[in-house]
Amino acid sequence: MLQYKVAIVGAGPAGYFAAQALQNLQNEDRAFSIDMIERLPTPWGLVRSGVAPDHPKIKTVAKVFEKIAAEPNFRLFANVEIGSEITVAQLAAQYDAVIIATGSALGKKLGIPGEDLYGSMSAADFVPWYNAHPDFADLDVPLDCDTSVVIGAGNVAMDVARMLALEPSELDSTDTVDHAIAAFKKSSVRDVYISARRGPEHAAFTSPELRELPKLEHTNVIMARSDIEAAIARAGDAPEKDVKSNLDAMLLIADSQKTEHERTMHFLFQHTPKEILGTDRVEGIVYSTPSGDVTVKCGLVITAIGYQAESIEGVPYENGKVVNTDGRVKENMYVVGWAKRGPSGVIGTNKSDAAAVIELLVSDLKQPKDNGDISQLITNEQVIDQAAWQRINAAEVAAGEPLGKPRKKLIQFEDFLRAAAI
Ligand SMILES: Cc1cc2nc3c(=O)[nH]c(=O)nc-3n(C[C@H](O)[C@H](O)[C@H](O)COP(=O)(O)OP(=O)(O)OC[C@H]3O[C@@H](n4cnc5c(N)ncnc54)[C@H](O)[C@@H]3O)c2cc1C
Repeated sequence: MLQYKVAIVGAGPAGYFAAQALQNLQNEDRAFSIDMIERLPTPWGLVRSGVAPDHPKIKTVAKVFEKIAAEPNFRLFANVEIGSEITVAQLAAQYDAVIIATGSALGKKLGIPGEDLYGSMSAADFVPWYNAHPDFADLDVPLDCDTSVVIGAGNVAMDVARMLALEPSELDSTDTVDHAIAAFKKSSVRDVYISARRGPEHAAFTSPELRELPKLEHTNVIMARSDIEAAIARAGDAPEKDVKSNLDAMLLIADSQKTEHERTMHFLFQHTPKEILGTDRVEGIVYSTPSGDVTVKCGLVITAIGYQAESIEGVPYENGKVVNTDGRVKENMYVVGWAKRGPSGVIGTNKSDAAAVIELLVSDLKQPKDNGDISQLITNEQVIDQAAWQRINAAEVAAGEPLGKPRKKLIQFEDFLRAAAI
């Protein structure tokens, strides 16, 4: 029996699906010991720190992750960062294969004047702020304005706009972190503009997310019928299935009965951001549109125009992604998930993608190494292993229960250590 050691860097969906694919490829001739290393005190990647709190069903995929983690050949090393504490080269020397599954966490920039003003930020900061990511707990989000603009035409932009435009008490029963619920309750924002550079036929929203909008109980959603009709005409007789489904969903929004709630989401199409206005803080945004420049007065601008990967020393990057051929990076290094493909695809996309990379990895394997493992490299005494994480997880769920929340997320490092009992 050949016993191989594989290190997976990053405990997001792609990392877990890579572990699952390895578990599925064990047989009487070969076995894998899998060490998953995560820089945060908590695993699950964007399932914890990205997916919108008002979409709890999506997060139930974490049960699959925990099943993978419960297998005897799996170990978690959370609160350990690769690239600083331990290098990828050190891992590569010890393990038969190293899989980079570190995602893509930096927000892309628009590159227009005014982007660095106070009140202009990326969804890559705003989303983890409301989702209890410890690195963003102190983000200053100015919600003292009546109008906010979200730039982008994908589901992240939509999540951000919804979070800003929901009646905040709707978040009480979610796992939105307490500091964000408190801020949303004090928020003066009543109008949220979500702006897309191109027409509705090019938007990257998906139709289930669009179809949810007319069902919002406390938010008006405004889309101009004329924008959608023009898009239908441009899309022609045989639009792609996804485009047709989106345009049908948008027509439903445009035609839905007018409501008179306090908060409104407005969609702007064919609006290209040109300049963010303001002296000390954001005061407005200028767009170029087919009918000339348009200014929207606002105090908060959030860009959701894509992500790029944060570099780790020893890993090659290009265009915000790890340089790879079908997931192979170099020697015994592989990449999966958003770090490989860039920020596209839903959680499930990472499963088939990781399975294909693991097949290549397994076909590359030779004689197993006998060079130790990460436990010999770790000097940090506050490693959160699977058992410690299970204690944190149970504590969060238990704290949420009396409040009707799926969990009450911890955010302070000391609280994680206390709950982990280490
Ligand atoms: C705001 C937002 C909302 C989304 N909503 C949905 C949704 O509703 N439904 C859906 O299907 N998909 C959704 N997605 C997409 C989904 O989250 C991604 O497809 C998926 O998370 C990508 O998985 P990943 O493992 O590649 O990256 P990630 O989930 O980002 O995981 C990467 C992990 O690596 C860790 N890491 C990074 N660097 C290091 C390092 N140096 N050392 C150790 N660990 C490290 C990170 O902390 C993180 O835990 C959403 C994405 C975003 C951004």
